[in-house]
Amino acid sequence: MSAALDVRSPHPTVLKDVPLRVDRDEVLRFQGYKKGVDVPDSTGLALFDEALALGASMIEPRVVYRAAGVTRQGPSVIEARGKALHIPEIGRLWGTLEMVGAGICTVGAAIEDRVRELWDQRELPLAVMLDSVGSAAVESLAEYANDLLCQAAIEGGLKVTNRISPGYAGWDTAEQAALFNLCPGEPIGVALNASCVMTPGKSISFLVGVGPDARVDHYFTQCRRCWMPDCAYRRAPAAATVRR
Ligand code: SF4
Repeated sequence: MSAALDVRSPHPTVLKDVPLRVDRDEVLRFQGYKKGVDVPDSTGLALFDEALALGASMIEPRVVYRAAGVTRQGPSVIEARGKALHIPEIGRLWGTLEMVGAGICTVGAAIEDRVRELWDQRELPLAVMLDSVGSAAVESLAEYANDLLCQAAIEGGLKVTNRISPGYAGWDTAEQAALFNLCPGEPIGVALNASCVMTPGKSISFLVGVGPDARVDHYFTQCRRCWMPDCAYRRAPAAATVRR
């Protein structure tokens, strides 16, 4: 799959048929459980199994990715394809970049449609658990895309940073539109409305930095949660809770 992903691609590249596995701990985290502290009872686990089986039959993982050359960089700004992205501290965090890569991931609309039906039928526990399965699935998909990019880049002598998304780490949600300008969601059926909300809802957009001097001082952490089994550049063994 990594051969299909060019981290410098100037054209939208679509990945489909991703072998996604939903992590139970991640679903329970969305349910408000604290790992190692809260343990679900048998009723909660049965509900999880039911929601997971239901969700697995509905997930349609898709990713679209496109890169753009960086034309200007400042302590808290990156400019690419004529748009300025204002991200606090990004110069210090990511170092000098050659390019940025924008990605959009979705697991499709079927899960949220079913969640809505379950709400209407007052099947609330299953509705809430299925919603968490959808959230965990798209989170896992975004991690997978970040890992694929990391590995593909290293093979080509480049580095890819951790991903960040509008609305997090001080990056204004309104710049979601600029991110969609870098990478359109249309090839995978993801739309952005005027309030910067994505449809389907179980979608994540992200930005990574790319370049030989991109700062990746978190490889240790990144490798611990990365599933790539045969990566020659792995800095740390994968932790037990690898997402896929
Ligand atoms: S194991 Fe580490 S270096 Fe290799 S692809 Fe994963 S995060 Fe990147």
